[in-house]
Formats: sequence, C-alpha cells, structure tokens
Amino acid sequence: MKNTKKNAVMVAAASMILCAALSIFLSSFLSDPYTLTGKKAKDADKPIKWVEFNIPYDIMKTAMDIDIDSYCKKIHVSWVDILAYLGAKYGGDFNRYNESDMDEFVTKAKQGKSIAALTKDMKYFNYYSKAYGAVLNGFLGEYQIKTTDGETGVASWKKAYGLKAFSPIGEGFYYSDFDDFGTNRSYGYSRRHLGHDMMTSVGTPVIAVESGTVEALGWNQYGGWRIGIRSHDNLRYYYYAHLQKDNPYAESLHIGATVTAGDVIGYTGQTGYSIKENTNNIDTPHLHFGLQLVFDEKAKDSPTQIWIDLYDITRLLSTHRCSVIRNKDTGEYERKYPFIEEDPAF
Ligand SMILES: [Zn+2]
Repeated sequence: MKNTKKNAVMVAAASMILCAALSIFLSSFLSDPYTLTGKKAKDADKPIKWVEFNIPYDIMKTAMDIDIDSYCKKIHVSWVDILAYLGAKYGGDFNRYNESDMDEFVTKAKQGKSIAALTKDMKYFNYYSKAYGAVLNGFLGEYQIKTTDGETGVASWKKAYGLKAFSPIGEGFYYSDFDDFGTNRSYGYSRRHLGHDMMTSVGTPVIAVESGTVEALGWNQYGGWRIGIRSHDNLRYYYYAHLQKDNPYAESLHIGATVTAGDVIGYTGQTGYSIKENTNNIDTPHLHFGLQLVFDEKAKDSPTQIWIDLYDITRLLSTHRCSVIRNKDTGEYERKYPFIEEDPAF
C-alpha cells in the first residue's frame, strides 16, 4: 500500500525484461487448466461444487521447490500440475502417496513430455488442476522486495520467483496452532469450524496472506471485528477474525481498498460471539484464519460454501513471514520492506 507510483513504474518497466518469455509461458500454463490436456471437457465451464484440500505439507513443499527450481530452466514444471497429477492418481487420498510417483512425473515433464500426454488417461486431472490451482495459484510468482544491506546500509531491490504469499502472523511474533478444521463450535448454532485458529497474544500484527481487495470489514457476531479479502482472480476469499477490541484494523483499510500480500491489515484480539459490537467474548486470544474458494458467486454465502483446511498451508506459509516495524509516530505496525508483485492479477 505504501509503494510510490514512481517505484511501481520503474519496477514495472524492469519486470517486462525479466523472464518475460517465461512469464507468458507460465501464465498461459496456469490460467486455463482445460487447455493443458487439449480436451474441451463438456463440464469445463461448470463451477466446481466441492474441494477437499488435504495435501500434506511435505508433499506441497517438495512440489513447490521443484516449481521454483525449474522456473528459469528450459522446462518449468508447475507445482499445481504435479499436485493435480498426484491428486488424480490417488483420488485425492494422499495416504497413498509414493515418492516415486512424483519423481516419475517430474522426470518425464523435464524430459519434454507434455502435461497433456502425461495425464491423458486421467479422468479427473482437469478437476484436480482446477481445484488445487484455485487454492494455490496466488502463492507463487515473481516479485521484488527492497531490502537494506546490514553492513553497508545500501538499499536495493531484489527480484525473485518464489513463495510470494505470507504467513498471516507477522515475523517475530509467537503463535501456536493445531489442525482444528471441522471441529464443533457451539456459539449461535451447532456448526463445524471452517478455518484455522492461531493462538497468540492480543495486538499481534495480522498480515495479508495474498494481495486482493477488501470485501468485508466490520462487526460480525461470530467473527467479531473481521476482514474479508478477495484475491485478484476472485477465486479466494480470505477471512481474518476476532481482531483486537478498539483497534482492529490498519488505518488505511476500507471496503474496496487494494491490499498487497504482506501488508499489516490489523491486530489479533478476542472479539466476537456477541451481537454487541466491540465485545471481547473469546477466551483465548487468537486469529481465526479462513480461506473460502469461490467458483460460483451465488454460492458464496450459501450453505454450499467451500472452506479449506489451512493447517498444512499455514505451515507452508510459516516459511515466509513478513518483517514488520512499529511506526514511532502512530504506534502502528507496518511492513519493513517494500514489496511489489510482478503480476498480481495474473
Ligand atoms: Zn476459528
């Protein structure tokens, strides 16, 4: 949010040069999974109705590293393709994972065999490509970050391709978590827990995981002070709840505001479980972090909502936490290093 227009222009110009051909190749690769197999599947345009995202951290991390390592090589192997291949092979059951399956797929892809050829007999590859892509497509990409050399004090922009989504908790702040997706909740009416709780102290900076547009802001009797941010491709709705009483949000936030991955968007707290605004009714301070997939706008607020188990994703994101500093004048936290995505809307 704080980057100047001048920087943005300079970086945009520079980015056109860097790996331009590869970027075009990659975006065409990711944007329409149905072209990968060359099939015009009849149901290609129908929105997906259900996704169970249960890929273990280790498998995601291995596939992500292969994607990053191969990015500027002759053949770039996308982690979404790797994971969709495995999902299709196992029917989504990663208890069946065998390392050699990933190795074989990656080896053949690197040898130049097309994804279409490698998945031609897989009935559900397109489904998994679209489903896993909807979760992960905003996580990797080209970005630039401006850091200062510790010894010389010289600031410079560094270009990279890699994990550009951030952990929702600022760097240096403690939190604890466990896999609590689907557990029962009793406030209001009996329902399943459709998110991931990160226990931490009150006032911990909450970070935008991915860039997007603020879609919801204000009080909700369940989430208390909460923020909803939609990704630029509209597929992901990030939900951050139980924010701090009296000081829930970063000052610049408003509905319709654009947020960049890594921005401080608010502070953790204990609000919620009350129809009365600004009430602390949550015993343990924590961030409720949720991710809803939206394939069909009509289903966004319906009983058929698709929420994702974020336990393993949160672990992956914990390898990329955003440095924050406290502004002495305002007392508020802000990101330490300016950051620009090369292709935020892909
Ligand atoms: Zn929760």
